[in-house]
Parts: sequence; C-alpha cells; structure tokens
Amino acid sequence: MSNFNQESVLGVHHWTDTLFSFTTTRDPSFRFRNGEFTMIGLKVGDRPLLRAYSVASANYEDRLEFFSIKVADGPLTSRLQHLKEGDEIIVSRKATGTLVIDNLKDGRNLYLIGTGTGLAPFLSVIKDPETYDRFEKVVLLHGCRRVAELAYGEMITEKLPNDELIGELVRNQLIYYPTVTRDPFRNRGRITDLIGSGKLFSDIGLAPLESEHDRIMICGSPALVHDTRALLSAKGFAEGNHGEPGQFVVEKAFAER
Ligand SMILES: Cc1cc2nc3c(=O)[nH]c(=O)nc-3n(C[C@H](O)[C@H](O)[C@H](O)COP(=O)(O)OP(=O)(O)OC[C@H]3O[C@@H](n4cnc5c(N)ncnc54)[C@H](O)[C@@H]3O)c2cc1C
Repeated sequence: MSNFNQESVLGVHHWTDTLFSFTTTRDPSFRFRNGEFTMIGLKVGDRPLLRAYSVASANYEDRLEFFSIKVADGPLTSRLQHLKEGDEIIVSRKATGTLVIDNLKDGRNLYLIGTGTGLAPFLSVIKDPETYDRFEKVVLLHGCRRVAELAYGEMITEKLPNDELIGELVRNQLIYYPTVTRDPFRNRGRITDLIGSGKLFSDIGLAPLESEHDRIMICGSPALVHDTRALLSAKGFAEGNHGEPGQFVVEKAFAER
C-alpha cells in the first residue's frame, strides 16, 4: 500500500439521492495541480477497490474534497455513499489529468464546461489565483437534469466571492452559468445547444466562441465530451494535452461500463 495514503473522513454532505460530497484529511506529501484526478477507494476484504476521482478542493487547502455520484449497483459508490465522519478512505499519492491550465495556450476567456459530477475538477480550477491571472473572464458552465443536482451553487455565488484569498478575483472575473434540462429554471437546455444557438453568449454578454481568444475545458459524460469536441473542432479549435498545449482540453467524467 506504499503508493496510497489513508485519510479520515471529516464531513459528508448529501445533495440528492444520487449525489454527495465528502471531505477528508490530506497527507501534506500529496501534491496535485488544480483540475487533476487521483485514485480513491475503500478496502474491501483485504484488497483496495479504487476509482478515478477529480479532486474538488484546491491544491492549497489542507483538506481534500470529492464530489461523487451514487450508483446503486456500482462496486465502489454503493459502499462509498455510506461514508461517515471518522471512516478511512484510501487516496493514491499520485494525481494526473488533462484539465490543467498549463495544457492551454494563452487566451482571453476560459470556459469550464461540466455536466453532473464533471463539475468537480473545475471547483479547484476556480479557486486557483493563477486561473484569474491567465484569463480575463472565467465562465463556469454546469449542466444537470434537475435543479437539485446543481451542487455547489451557493458555494460559488455566496462563499467564494467573499473568500479572503480569491474573493476579489471571483467577483471581477468569474461568471457562473448553471443550466438544467428537466426542471423550470432561469437557464434551460443542453450546454452544446446553448453554445450552438448563441443564447449562452447573449446571456453572459460575451462574444461567441473564437479559437483565437477562447480556451475551453470540458468534463462530462462520454456523450457530452464527444459532442463538444465535434462542435469545437468544427470551429477550428485545436485540442491540447500534456505534450502540447491547445485551445481546448477534455476529460470524461466517467467511463461507460
Ligand atoms: C478521469 C475520471 C475522473 C472521475 N472523477 C469522478 C468524480 O470526481 N466523481 C465521481 O463521482 N465519479 C468520477 N469518476 C467516475 C468514477 O471513477 C467511478 O466510475 C464512480 O465512482 C462509480 O464507481 P462504481 O464502482 O460505483 O461504479 P462503476 O462500475 O465505476 O460505474 C458504473 C456505471 O455508472 C455510471 N457512472 C459512473 N460514474 C459516474 C458519474 N460520475 N456520473 C454519472 N454516471 C456515472 C457509468 O455508466 C458507469 O459505467 C471519474 C472517472 C474518470 C475516468
């Protein structure tokens, strides 16, 4: 188990019957870049049961936070959803991932597009002062089916703007745009449709996407990743990765079984 740390659960918050978040202690030796994921899990019998999870806390915070789905018959989350304060979880010492701002070329505006738990990596990206140093405006889009699934909305609109470290940056530069497909709400529709129709841009007061100025990170279902990649490629955006920074980067929020 030398590649893993044991961490204690400090708190658990259930958003809905399919979504929850939890915080844990953080071994000071665990380093990550905002936007990365790591492997976490539980010991089942004498073996670790691990899954990839984005770190939802920022890399300067002394706790780790994770935002999780509850899959009824999922090997890990059918167990993980019963976590309570004081329980132990396993966290890999290594983090990786493509959703880091270093993988993007310089640009004017940064769009963070997440659906469901695909919001998680962006929760750390929007807490990073460097994000606001590199980009003039940071637009966080969160798409869900139901209003109740728009987790962290209050943290983003109430707590972050008053944060000692990044409050002013958030107030001046962050635009939060939650949208749902199945409930009445002020913003409705799929993110790809809102981009395609231009409604998003008239709502937030920015020009439609342009590969010269805009940079994009995407994290969502395999279908969202596929559709957004196609939409951006058709607009001439080049995909980036570790070897070569680009105009957009993607990561699947989960793999299909
Ligand atoms: C790079 C990466 C980062 C990830 N980050 C997160 C994260 O931050 N939070 C998180 O909850 N999950 C995340 N996942 C998914 C996670 O690894 C597990 O799949 C999830 O915890 C379910 O585990 P399980 O063993 O219960 O079920 P699994 O057997 O792993 O999954 C069963 C099925 O449930 C569905 N599913 C799994 N995860 C999700 C999800 N997040 N949203 C919607 N449907 C899903 C899929 O159809 C999947 O085939 C990530 C996956 C990858 C590849």
